[in-house]
Amino acid sequence: MLASKRAYNFNAGPSALPLPVLEKAQAELVDFKGLGMSVMEISHRSKDFDAVYNQTVALLKELMGISENYEVLLLQGGASLQFAMVPINFLLPGKKASYCLTGSWSEKAFKEAKMVGEAYEAASAKDTNYTYIPALSDLKYDQSDAYLHITTNNTIFGTEWQEYPDTGNVPLIADMSSDILSRPIDVNKFSLIYAGAQKNLGPSGVTVVIVRKDLLEKANKKVLTMLSYDTHVKNGSMFNTPPTFAFYMMGLVLEWVKEQGGVDVIYKRNLEKAALIYDTIDASGGFYKGHAQPDSRSLMNITFRLGSEELEKKFLAEAKAAGFVGLNGHRSVGGCRASAYNAVPIEACQALKDFMIKFQKANG
Ligand SMILES: *Cc1c(COP(=O)(O)O)cnc(C)c1O
Repeated sequence: MLASKRAYNFNAGPSALPLPVLEKAQAELVDFKGLGMSVMEISHRSKDFDAVYNQTVALLKELMGISENYEVLLLQGGASLQFAMVPINFLLPGKKASYCLTGSWSEKAFKEAKMVGEAYEAASAKDTNYTYIPALSDLKYDQSDAYLHITTNNTIFGTEWQEYPDTGNVPLIADMSSDILSRPIDVNKFSLIYAGAQKNLGPSGVTVVIVRKDLLEKANKKVLTMLSYDTHVKNGSMFNTPPTFAFYMMGLVLEWVKEQGGVDVIYKRNLEKAALIYDTIDASGGFYKGHAQPDSRSLMNITFRLGSEELEKKFLAEAKAAGFVGLNGHRSVGGCRASAYNAVPIEACQALKDFMIKFQKANG
């Protein structure tokens, strides 16, 4: 066990939050900044809450190196609403959108686009139950397309893009829900990035949208108020009452990332964390089998199987008894999944490695 009875939390989402963040929220809960109220009890139109919002957005811009060419929005409805909002705003009549299918979440995004307009597959890894990321040279899209959509990390299957396509004039749109802020990226390659907060950014209830101003100019003007990005840009993400506590928590998580040394330091740590578990899989002589092909492996979600479903059940039961949480694989892959998001400490990954080795010795 970790400090203060903290579990080894490998939940896929909602997932682990940094302990110092929880402690700070706890300390400030009843009396936020001497106001005699919690942050949940103040008006979202107040100066005090404005400061929370502005600080959160400024920190995200700083940590990701987001330029003035972009708007940063904090919205509701999860990444799932973005599956719809992206085509509703940008898939205009007469245009086509291209979707790269690398897992269940990209399939869901594709389904929404097809309900709005014309969308087609850029590439698909479905033939292997999504064990790999297609080669950049295999992506099909046209220079006249409305956009190309990718899912940078496939939470369920445990694959992750290692590099991103240069799409020229075609706007590149990415669902980064499960790997945002886990590695340095060049935001300038993207026209729109969206991410539900509950993996790397904070609690559920808030969704980050980073959108380039030149894409916004091309948006459909006849969109229902709440579904239009323009509404949220014009109202500073506060057209209606936002999830104020989730904004505040996200701000604390971003402060924590900055205190750690920023995204570069977090990335190095994530490489070490993932290596502990992948090396154990690779050194197990086939006792543990990774789902993802090695060149497509995710740093965030490590998916693996054991020799039989019976052995997997035993592994999961013993892991649970040993204090590990969230290691069950998603039903579409089976087996096991360890989600080692930013807030999961290296000690938890080391403990999982030790447990995996011990389990293999007893059952191999
Ligand atoms: C979790 C997840 C989603 C779904 O997010 P919601 O906020 O629940 O809508 C979408 N895409 C990816 C890649 C995810 O990991």
